[in-house]
Amino acid sequence: MCALVNAAGDIVQKIEVNRAPANPEDLVDVIVGARDRFASGNSSQLIGLGIADPGMVNNAEGLVVRSSQFPGWHNIPLAALLGEKIDIPVLVENSTRVRAIGEYMGMDDLRQTEASMLYLEYGEGIGFSFVTSGAIWRGEGFAGELGHVVIERDGNLCGCGARGCLESLVNSSTIEARAKDLLGRGVNSILQGRDNPKSEEIFAAALDADRMARGLVEEIVSHFGLAAAFLASAFHPKYIVVGAESASAIRCLTKEITSAIHDRTLPEIASSIEVVEGREYEPLALVGAALMVFRKAIMQYSKTVARASRP
Ligand SMILES: [Zn+2]
Repeated sequence: MCALVNAAGDIVQKIEVNRAPANPEDLVDVIVGARDRFASGNSSQLIGLGIADPGMVNNAEGLVVRSSQFPGWHNIPLAALLGEKIDIPVLVENSTRVRAIGEYMGMDDLRQTEASMLYLEYGEGIGFSFVTSGAIWRGEGFAGELGHVVIERDGNLCGCGARGCLESLVNSSTIEARAKDLLGRGVNSILQGRDNPKSEEIFAAALDADRMARGLVEEIVSHFGLAAAFLASAFHPKYIVVGAESASAIRCLTKEITSAIHDRTLPEIASSIEVVEGREYEPLALVGAALMVFRKAIMQYSKTVARASRP
């Protein structure tokens, strides 16, 4: 999915790309093609290009270190490849991080006070991003890869190649497979009759107090909530923002994470953290990537002005 986003963070136009690129050069052609379509339909000036990738990214070098969208793609210099074809600044960033910035920029209280925020993301992938003083905390580069901590040594095979990662235990395809299995065995649920229940339906059923769906959510939260409690105690943020693929998942998980923080952390920490519902994460990735590009463009412009004004 590609979008044209204005400086206010509003999506002006969207283009859906259905072609799976065969190699990095092909991906570059797809992105350049989308840029050309946006440019031909709008009189406004494009000031940059932001790419949100769910894999491991080296933002400083514009490098896709390990792609999760395209298995086997390692150390792809995406920004440099795009730089050969287009003449606007390019930003490549991990998608959890761009969503965290999208949430941060959209919360007036956070932006104005520069309070700290922990963004938790649940979906096909599991991730977190800590934002402090308006910037992402990167550690030595890959801080946030929470989803690939091994919890069960003999657990499900994960996309990263390991077994029993947090992500493979709790992600949306796992909960869908678990629900399908239970429904196939005749477990009583309002989802009976649905052959392939989607995660958003399972979370909605849990909010409706469906016993089977509640049980699945509790399984998830026993792991995801524990991770959130560790992170809350490690970082002690002012806010924890919960993002997910659907509104029902966000509402359900926000309630559950609130309980997990309350039950598992010291009262002085739990009482001073506010757990809030984030936004559905596909549009947020588009907006967050664009807002990061605007920030990058403004910083580059400021440096240029400062250089030009030196005596
Ligand atoms: Zn993994």
